[in-house]
Amino acid sequence: MLLSKEFVGEQKKKLESRLKEVGEEIEYVGERTADGHWRPRFVDWGDDAASGNIGDEWTETAGEQAQFEERLAVLKSLLNIKTNIENALERIDSGTYGRCSNCDRFIERERLEVIPEADTCIKCQD
Ligand SMILES: [Zn+2]
Repeated sequence: MLLSKEFVGEQKKKLESRLKEVGEEIEYVGERTADGHWRPRFVDWGDDAASGNIGDEWTETAGEQAQFEERLAVLKSLLNIKTNIENALERIDSGTYGRCSNCDRFIERERLEVIPEADTCIKCQD
């Protein structure tokens, strides 16, 4: 099914606003290192359930380690989403948006509505 210009135009708007949101989330959970990479920011996120035992050195360290890993996972997935969105915007510009990168069939419109940055059809998704 060929995608209409209107549909692709709407998807582009969605992607652009998602890109902005994701960019802000990345700034919030991460910080850029001097060499241009991202790493989790060390801030208190408020949910300290993991490190409830203040005074217990070991527990505190283990809690911080767990939090760091959690933040790293969040940051990684955000960076992933950002890359996917940027790729989708490039595909819109090059006119290949909406095609499955794996089997080259058209991606289901319903799928694109939910995940505008999707680059595989339902059959080929992980
Ligand atoms: Zn496919």
